[in-house]
Amino acid sequence: MSEIHKFLFDGLPVRGVLVRLTGAWTEILRRHATAGSAGAYAQPVQDLLGQMVAAATLMQSNIKFNGALLLQVFGDGPVRLAVAEVQSDFGVRATAKVVGQVAPEARLSELVNLNHQGKCAITLDPEDRLPGQQAYQGVVPLSLDGHEKPDTLSAVLEHYMLQSEQLHTTLVLAADARVAAGLLIQRLPLQGEGNLAGRSGAEGADEGDDGHEDYRRVAMLAASLKQEELLGLDADTILRRLFWQEKLLRFEPAVDDPVPHFSCTCSRERVEKMLLGLGEAEVQGILAERGEVEVGCEFCGAHERFDAIDVAQIFKAAVKLPTAGPALH
Ligand SMILES: [Zn+2]
Repeated sequence: MSEIHKFLFDGLPVRGVLVRLTGAWTEILRRHATAGSAGAYAQPVQDLLGQMVAAATLMQSNIKFNGALLLQVFGDGPVRLAVAEVQSDFGVRATAKVVGQVAPEARLSELVNLNHQGKCAITLDPEDRLPGQQAYQGVVPLSLDGHEKPDTLSAVLEHYMLQSEQLHTTLVLAADARVAAGLLIQRLPLQGEGNLAGRSGAEGADEGDDGHEDYRRVAMLAASLKQEELLGLDADTILRRLFWQEKLLRFEPAVDDPVPHFSCTCSRERVEKMLLGLGEAEVQGILAERGEVEVGCEFCGAHERFDAIDVAQIFKAAVKLPTAGPALH
């Protein structure tokens, strides 16, 4: 079963989260393998997407936020786009768009940053977004300043957390065909709520040395975790082996705490809105060419079909909607 384990280090300004996704992750892979014509992901793409799912779950579990957390990689290699989305209730979905061949041993930079144009974005999309309200988004290039191309997603995200959120973070991420897992260790900001949603208090978190040595010690222990250990060992064993000399305070999960599970937020209504956005001429054009409009969901493989009558109804209903602003006549 998929799990989330949160913990603190007694007396130290350090917190941690360990996540293991099993059923939620294998369902993402199964949906992809059976939905399109492309079949299963090449292994390097599967590894990247699984690490993104684990990272997005870690980040969602580490903030107080009601809405979707999206982790996106906009690549300039064979992986053009990879998305992992985690809702507040840990409903998880993910997909990757791949163009062309992926070498069996392709590294991250070869997958998504061939020409140094790759980007990574983290978006917080509130559930009850007011009209006109923007989702919060942070974007970082996949080429780190003054560094070689980073070859791990964890390095990219650690850099992002420090640059954008002023939070010292250590991540270990791993995925195979059965498990997507991650360990996050983060230094608590000295003042205020230093997280993705409440950023203002985090300024100057790395000023002074209070607790920083402690963070560095814990971070080094965390970074010693090997990917195969993260994938193969249970949470209790991992935490005991890494931190046996530290005073770990584990949060006992409540029975009704949500656990990561596959969930897709697509619906026929959303597809109708998308068709409205395309415009009647465009949609009628597709209809004339193919006899029906079929839209597939990249995440879950669901297909929505619209015939001429459906399309007419969508645009007729839209005309009837009350329009804002004064009438012209
Ligand atoms: Zn869907």
